[in-house]
Amino acid sequence: MFNKLKEKLNTFKKSAGNTIDEKAVELEEPADHPAETEEVKSRTEPEPVNTETSTTSKVSEQPTRSKSGTGFGQKAKAFVFKREFILDEDDIQDTLWDLEMGLLENDIALSVSEAIVESVKNELVGTRRRVGSDTGEIVESALKKALHNIMSANMFDFDEYLKNAEKPVHVVFIGVNGTGKTTTIAKLAKKLQDDDYSAVIAAGDTFRAGAIDQIQEHANRINTKLIKHQEMGDPAAVIYDAVQYAKVHDIDVVLSDTAGRLHTNVNLMSQLEKICRVNSPDLVIFVDEAVAGNDAVERAQQFNDNIPFNGSILTKADADSKGGASISIAYITGKPILYLGVGQSYGDLKKFDPQWFVDQLFE
Ligand code: GDP
Repeated sequence: MFNKLKEKLNTFKKSAGNTIDEKAVELEEPADHPAETEEVKSRTEPEPVNTETSTTSKVSEQPTRSKSGTGFGQKAKAFVFKREFILDEDDIQDTLWDLEMGLLENDIALSVSEAIVESVKNELVGTRRRVGSDTGEIVESALKKALHNIMSANMFDFDEYLKNAEKPVHVVFIGVNGTGKTTTIAKLAKKLQDDDYSAVIAAGDTFRAGAIDQIQEHANRINTKLIKHQEMGDPAAVIYDAVQYAKVHDIDVVLSDTAGRLHTNVNLMSQLEKICRVNSPDLVIFVDEAVAGNDAVERAQQFNDNIPFNGSILTKADADSKGGASISIAYITGKPILYLGVGQSYGDLKKFDPQWFVDQLFE
């Protein structure tokens, strides 16, 4: 997943790590008791080793105990072999520039790339930092922190929400055709049923030829009730009927499909507004592809401007692609990502966890 982005992040990790290595200096703590330090040093001389790096890690991880067993011996040794660095902005300016270009190449929008670079810079530049043998770890943790902050905007736990919400909970799905909206609705209906909730689907895409048959096929396969009208019927009315059906039959969740024409289509937007005005859904979820690049980011922005949504589900995250759209959409809309679609089977819906997402970019 997102292999191209992983490559860029790793390149930055290596080159910024090398710069830190070059700038790092060994810490020589002025000894309060030189004679004692010398004595302790001679008694606790470490095993000869080949490289400076391995000496550093060996001693700092496992300080040698002095015979006297006092803490002073350990402290004196540890300080001698620790390193520290301070980076100036000039030291990593070129590397940060390469990082920004790498993020942009991976479809992370300009404002988001700038925010990530700024955060990494603030983390690495200007402050005195201790460093162990692996300078790359310091860089990785700065990158992870920046990405995690962006990805965890306004976290929303759908499961927790559902547990406590008054039923039926009505969720309307919006987004353009072909991104996986219908499949996602089916995946979610299946998951809800597996979690012992009852669900009904509303065939709200009455515009696209074959859309009703397609969602009927999914509903049959996962054994879920579908409420449908004729093609070209009023979607607000189908969805209204589905909500009434849920109320009468004590159904927990209504999942409403909608038409997905071009996001710039004025009729589509006014149709969606009508659906929301007539049916007052509890949640509106935007569905798009994690791998669709800046187009998806632009769509997210336009949908959100017209029909403010509560969160996103990003599909096709299993595709080996750039993946920057998922990072951008979270940041630019300021809305949480609820799930990732990670395949074509009904079980391929993964609850979004920012920590997991960021960690796997460095696997
Ligand atoms: P809609 O037009 O937005 O309703 O899109 P569909 O639900 O019909 O999906 C379009 C295509 O994307 C179908 O072939 C789906 O199987 C596929 N698809 C949907 N979600 C995923 C996903 O998470 N991963 C992959 N690889 N394919 C997906």
